[in-house]
Amino acid sequence: MLETLSITDQLTGLNNRRYFDERFEVELGIAHRYKKHLSLVLIDIDHFKSINDSCGHLVGDQILKEFSRLLRANIRATDLLARWGGEEFILLLPETTAENARVLAEKICAAVSEHSFLGMDQVTASFGVTEMNHTKDSTVEAIRRADDALYQAKEEGRNRVILASC
Ligand code: GH3
Ligand code: MG
Ligand code: MG
Repeated sequence: MLETLSITDQLTGLNNRRYFDERFEVELGIAHRYKKHLSLVLIDIDHFKSINDSCGHLVGDQILKEFSRLLRANIRATDLLARWGGEEFILLLPETTAENARVLAEKICAAVSEHSFLGMDQVTASFGVTEMNHTKDSTVEAIRRADDALYQAKEEGRNRVILASC
């Protein structure tokens, strides 16, 4: 019970960041050693502050929960999903190429924009995708690339997926 609490985000029930960090190091070690593909997706809900401002913090919380359910419904049991912080989520995809990660992110992006969240007009999210390279990539470096791609997705108008060039 205590163990579950320490690795779980209380609001969404997803894994928390601490657990993700630990597992990411392990998965990266496996991918390097066995030359496996491993991809990473950073996800950030668009204009979430204005959702909170116009509908209230409690509605914001409900949307975070529903968003988490939607993410979970679109991934495999072997994928690792976590709440990265606030309205940001992170997804680690073992044995997945950059191109397949991009396709999955596009699918989730469309599912979010088509989903009816508590009667809101539309909720969208932006996605930054990268694949680990097999030479000297670190978790920090990969997260930085995914974050840069996410930033670009925001700059280009949100509700979209950007694949980092590496
Ligand atoms: P952008 O499209 O650029 O991502 O804009 P944004 O408004 O989503 O980003 P910003 O970082 O300005 O705001 C994030 C907001 O998320 C602000 C913060 O109050 C809200 N938030 C973070 N954690 C929670 C939470 O647990 N519950 C609720 N309701 N809101 C949260
Ligand atoms: Mg954010
Ligand atoms: Mg946001």
